[in-house]
Amino acid sequence: MIKPQPHQLIILAFLLSFSHTNVVVSARLFPNVSSFLPAHAPLGGAWDAFRNLTGCHRGENYDGLANLKSYFERFGYFPHAPPSNFSDEFDDALESAIKTYQKNFNLNVTGVLDDATLQQIVLPRCGVADIINGTTTMNAGKQNETASFSKPRFHTVAHFALFPGNPRWPEGTEELTYAFNPGNDLSNTVKGVFASAFARWAEVTSLTFRETASYFNADIRIGFFSGDHGDGEPFDGSLGTLAHAFSPTNGRFHLDADEDWVVSGDVTQSALSSAVDLESVAVHEIGHLLGLGHSSVEEAVMFPTISSRRKKVVLAQDDIEGIQFLYGSNPNFNGSTVTSAPERDTSDGGRCLTCVGSSWSVFTLLTFSTLYFTLL
Ligand SMILES: [Zn+2]
Ligand SMILES: [Zn+2]
Repeated sequence: MIKPQPHQLIILAFLLSFSHTNVVVSARLFPNVSSFLPAHAPLGGAWDAFRNLTGCHRGENYDGLANLKSYFERFGYFPHAPPSNFSDEFDDALESAIKTYQKNFNLNVTGVLDDATLQQIVLPRCGVADIINGTTTMNAGKQNETASFSKPRFHTVAHFALFPGNPRWPEGTEELTYAFNPGNDLSNTVKGVFASAFARWAEVTSLTFRETASYFNADIRIGFFSGDHGDGEPFDGSLGTLAHAFSPTNGRFHLDADEDWVVSGDVTQSALSSAVDLESVAVHEIGHLLGLGHSSVEEAVMFPTISSRRKKVVLAQDDIEGIQFLYGSNPNFNGSTVTSAPERDTSDGGRCLTCVGSSWSVFTLLTFSTLYFTLL
């Protein structure tokens, strides 16, 4: 028998300290939204203070601009973070970041913090950056790409984006397994929401997805976490960043345990302003897990932001083109997902997975109030 070397044991211990994160979560399930409201007043988003920056312009100092710079840095809009903290000065680098952001989000490219730009900035969004390693995968990058063509081809060029290096699950992969962090102790209803989200991608590609009980051996590992959870991408409480996922073949899929996740029922009818539709976020993050980056196409599920109380679960043509570019088409796919999944951005009741009474009136809100995690 080969005896492990000391350095091999150290590496093994290091890996185990990350892979065996034992999370215990106290989950509270609310059968309907009215029972939820008395204890929880509507909450502001994590970035609401940015609204006060309307009208700021280059060359002056404003309280809070340093926080906005941190926001842009987090999502890739500053190529280099400063050696110390960001200042409150509206400098050239900030103006440049704002212009790139405005291009990516189809806004007027003014370099000014106007209302439309700030309204977009404060929306809840995915924690994955829009610009990775300096590569702008959204509009701003596409426009550079097409600059050498005499005729703009914005209407014909594909908008979907991949991660730098185009990572994907290996050629020949037919099935990916997924598992839930055992510490979250999720109900079958909650797991069913993820199954529905996976099914939307399986419908248009030849990939299939299967739940497995073995969390540490699964290709895709799904867990709810609160605040700093050890991967350098801390969550920020209600709204702000909602979730993040890693590119292939990493497989980590993390959701912010402190959101008010709507598991079933019509999220658009929720009286709770911070309610977030779980399936909408799951469909988006699975796109990342399979290799898609953020798209500037607003109808695409891979667009980076989603408002609270909004449902957006049906793959747009842009999403379908992106995923089929990576994995090919499902032979049974007829070119449209609309008939099998009619609830894109709906206010028509959505889908009720646990139907108790009317899908108009029944919500299941999932909140995680207590989170402990220990490294073994
Ligand atoms: Zn994303
Ligand atoms: Zn994470």
